[in-house]
Amino acid sequence: MQRLSPIESSAFKSLNKVITWFIILRWVACTGVALVLLFSYYSFHFKLQYKILSATTLTVISLNLIYSYYFYRYKKQFLQRREIHIFFQIQIISDYLLLLILVYFSGFMDNPLIFFFSFHIIITSFLFTSGIVTLYTTLLIALIGSISLFQYLKIIPVFPLFVESITTTPILRLTQTFGISALLAITAYLTISIINKIDARGKQFEVELNKYKSLDKIKSNFILQVTHELRGPLAAISGFHEMILRGITGEIEEYTKSIIIKADRRTDNLLIIIGEMIDFAYMKSSDDSTFITRELSVRKIISENISNVTTRAQQGSVHLSVACPKHLEIRTNSDLINIILGNLLFNAIKYTEAGGNVSLIASEKGNEIHFVVEDTGIGICEEEIEKVFYEFYRSRRARELEKDGTGLGLAIVQKAVNALQGRIIVYSKEGKGSSFHVFLPEYIDTGKIPGGENAENINN
Ligand code: ADP
Repeated sequence: MQRLSPIESSAFKSLNKVITWFIILRWVACTGVALVLLFSYYSFHFKLQYKILSATTLTVISLNLIYSYYFYRYKKQFLQRREIHIFFQIQIISDYLLLLILVYFSGFMDNPLIFFFSFHIIITSFLFTSGIVTLYTTLLIALIGSISLFQYLKIIPVFPLFVESITTTPILRLTQTFGISALLAITAYLTISIINKIDARGKQFEVELNKYKSLDKIKSNFILQVTHELRGPLAAISGFHEMILRGITGEIEEYTKSIIIKADRRTDNLLIIIGEMIDFAYMKSSDDSTFITRELSVRKIISENISNVTTRAQQGSVHLSVACPKHLEIRTNSDLINIILGNLLFNAIKYTEAGGNVSLIASEKGNEIHFVVEDTGIGICEEEIEKVFYEFYRSRRARELEKDGTGLGLAIVQKAVNALQGRIIVYSKEGKGSSFHVFLPEYIDTGKIPGGENAENINN
């Protein structure tokens, strides 16, 4: 049997809002009725059935307390769709009946509260299908019409609102009944047609979105294929450079050597860019694929990632430091965590001048592992910090420095952090350095890679 957590599902979130409104409106209505009863009790103009009306108001209050309690419980518990549906139905029916009782014993057609039914119809339209709303409205109109008719035929008594009862002619009563019924029918018709239009637009939007998503996926798969094809030959070129530099192909002049070294650096940069594009396309195209999690040693992850960037740091004369408690473990996906730390470390080194420092620190914070990649590099200015997670975004300073880059690294990091149900926060000051804080849950189950975006940026 499928169990739902309504509070977590976005469709049910809006439903929860409607129910919250229902409960709040009921409290407002009860307070209003209680105040009116109190006021009318001391006024000579009113002639109300105080006992019945007070009992009805108390019933509404008691029911609302039960509904509030049940609502609070159902938010916490996993209820079935059927149970939630029944819960809504009971509320609607009880509201209709109690309101009808209140109105009947306090002047019926002369009581302005009768217009409250319109609100009910509007709210019901948000919760139920047009068929159910039509059924409720028809029953309501039939009930109002019958009461009116029976009162006219003197089968049931009339409970006037005022001491001096308003003289109602049959024509006036008929007009009133017809007017109220028409108002309710028009309200139902209008809300149903508006909601149907909104639904149709929503469905159309969904179709467009799916079309866009599948096109985006085709593009990502294309990038993935092309970049894969490019990586092989480039890696081979890099290997040939190394062979030449090691003298395997024979002695070379110093000048030639310096040119080969430059060519090799450029090839390495190209390989890095291609690596980023592969990661990016992988994260984009694997929206539906699941990632497997396993128990990992945080120390081991850190040392692997540090050793991957040590040569780069040495080339740029950047000092690397690490801090991580022993025996720290995390159950997560190793590919995604390596993508996160690898990209952040790589950026930290890339955007730090010679002589600067880059550190990677890991610690346990509650149920999370907190990773900090900090550098004393160029930093990010306040206006740009918001945008660094955008795809293809590169800061002005980064472009000025002509450092190679695609503007994809942080977009990949963000997607990987989201997939691992974590969060990322950036602290940065231009010219002073940056620190990227990644919080990952200590334990997550195998899951799917989502496409969402929820990174936070803080500038200090
Ligand atoms: P790339 O580095 O390829 O330009 P990223 O997505 O990795 O793309 O980063 C986006 C931008 O964020 C970079 O262009 C740079 O301006 C800024 N940035 C990222 N990391 C740092 C850092 N450690 N220090 C300063 N700026 C950074």
